[in-house]
Amino acid sequence: MELSEMAKMTYEQSEIKERLQWLIKLRWAGCVGVLVGTHIVREIAGLTFPLIPVYLILGLVAIYNAYFQVKLKVAAKDFHKSAIEQISLDFLILAGAIYFSGGCDSPFLYYYLFHIVISGILLPRVWTYRFAVLAIVLPTSIVGLKHFGILPHFAIFRNEPLLFSDLSVMAAYGGVFASTLLLTAYFVTYLSDKLYKKQEEIRRLYILSEKLRSSIVISDVIETVKEELQALSGSARIIYIPLNKSKLALVYTDTTSEHELTIPLADRNAFTDTLLSCEAHILETRVISSEYEDKVIKSLMDNPKEIAVLPVRAAFTTKCYEFFHCPDDTGCAAYGSEDRRCWHISGTHCHGRIMRNVTEKLKECLDCDMFAPVGIFVLDMTRKSKLELRIDIDACMRLLDAASLAVSNAKLYEKTLELSEIDGLTLIKNRRTLLKQLGAETQRAHRYKKTFGLLMLDIDHFKHYNDTNGHPQGDILLKMIADMISENLRDTDTVGRYGGEEFIILLPESDKEEAISIAERIRKAVDNYKFPRAETQPNGKMTVSVGVSSYPDDGDAWEKIIRSADDALYVAKNTGRNRVIAANRPEALI
Ligand code: GH3
Ligand code: MG
Ligand code: MG
Repeated sequence: MELSEMAKMTYEQSEIKERLQWLIKLRWAGCVGVLVGTHIVREIAGLTFPLIPVYLILGLVAIYNAYFQVKLKVAAKDFHKSAIEQISLDFLILAGAIYFSGGCDSPFLYYYLFHIVISGILLPRVWTYRFAVLAIVLPTSIVGLKHFGILPHFAIFRNEPLLFSDLSVMAAYGGVFASTLLLTAYFVTYLSDKLYKKQEEIRRLYILSEKLRSSIVISDVIETVKEELQALSGSARIIYIPLNKSKLALVYTDTTSEHELTIPLADRNAFTDTLLSCEAHILETRVISSEYEDKVIKSLMDNPKEIAVLPVRAAFTTKCYEFFHCPDDTGCAAYGSEDRRCWHISGTHCHGRIMRNVTEKLKECLDCDMFAPVGIFVLDMTRKSKLELRIDIDACMRLLDAASLAVSNAKLYEKTLELSEIDGLTLIKNRRTLLKQLGAETQRAHRYKKTFGLLMLDIDHFKHYNDTNGHPQGDILLKMIADMISENLRDTDTVGRYGGEEFIILLPESDKEEAISIAERIRKAVDNYKFPRAETQPNGKMTVSVGVSSYPDDGDAWEKIIRSADDALYVAKNTGRNRVIAANRPEALI
């Protein structure tokens, strides 16, 4: 089988396909064996029996075998159905052969019993179980009917040799014999199933690690994990619901319909429980009690019978106990445990405290330095049998644990990107990011024939403030003014630190008049606020000066826009400070 084809099939599909290939091969071998055996028996043992029914049966078997062989090559999925069809037909043909060739006296009965074992091994485990019933019922009912003289049949063997005279007695034990064989088949299948699952799990873990090596963005990591979960679990539908830390909720956003579903962490249900306990949950949808469970199942999962909820965590390499000095010196209980889940360990230490109750743990879980929860996967497990479900969920959890380091790397990368864009002191955008945004805004305004405004703001006599109150106090003031600017802007506006105590404010979709009024609003806000220790300033208070420019009035390139605002600011400084001056206006031309 092609590797790419294998990758697309679920574990169950590829397993059944492989078994079906074996079944077809065995059936061809069986046909040839019966054909040769019949002739040998006729020639060597000298038995006389009609060949027509034998050819008829073999012809029938050959036709459906060829049909299924072609179908298996073409069909992409649903091998399960095909396996059941084929084995049912085999049973029917064999039952027919037994009936016409002597009922429970027939030597075919033994082929039939052998067939049960082969079918048992080739079928998925649960189906072996179901076929057991059929396999035991059929021979025993033949024996029973024969015993009571109800079953009429044609004997193919005319001169029945001695060898077959005791067959009816032996056939009477057929049911017991079949069930013993079947039990063997069941265990063989059980063991091979287990082995196969483990092998598949290791293969998927390998594929996952290969794929994750090239994923650094969190959405890519999640998408990769989702694909692998799908392949491993065979679930028809999987959704991912990320944790939104600022909303303290699980938030699912459907990108196609803009539909948003918020599950607050305060609400105790299978989803929030899964996230906070880092444990998988299986949910039968008919026993739903929570409003949110109902919503997720109805609106997102298309009414499945059973769902599995699995947590995703970021495994940070920080050993938090090294920072928080846990009292028992053994460190975090979760870090030491094999599956790294602290939830069930009583008296777990976290941040140096012993957490005795669930509520305390829930609070700490969100900020866990080592295993911060990231979100949950919800898997539709409708077509799974109970037996297989648990094994699959355990395998999926191991897959998610293996992916957790990649999740943490992606989160660190996200954080690094974020930090590289902001100014460490004022926590607003830094110069590089702001200029990049200004360049993009200029292009956008040019293409769509829009305007935008730009403010350059400088604190008045800031050197004096620093000299009088010290640099640390100057830093506090800088941050206060940055916050004050942000508070006076709209969501779409951006403020950035241009230099030491100079700020640039970008006002998309604003003309010069609007830009002037926003500048005036900020200037007044600063003017009216009583900043600490500002009374020693030359004006007796803290003030700012602002230069205003706009696109396209003051230039068609971003450099020109900045230059115009800077020139206007220069005028504001030279005409007494604490004022707003707009570029290329009469007041700026002095
Ligand atoms: P003007 O009204 O003409 O703008 O006077 P000014 O004193 O504000 O002008 P100048 O540009 O000469 O001084 C800027 C001062 O800003 C100099 C420097 O000490 C201070 N400064 C620049 N960056 C920082 C910073 O990050 N923290 C602190 N505390 N001060 C800073
Ligand atoms: Mg200044
Ligand atoms: Mg300055």
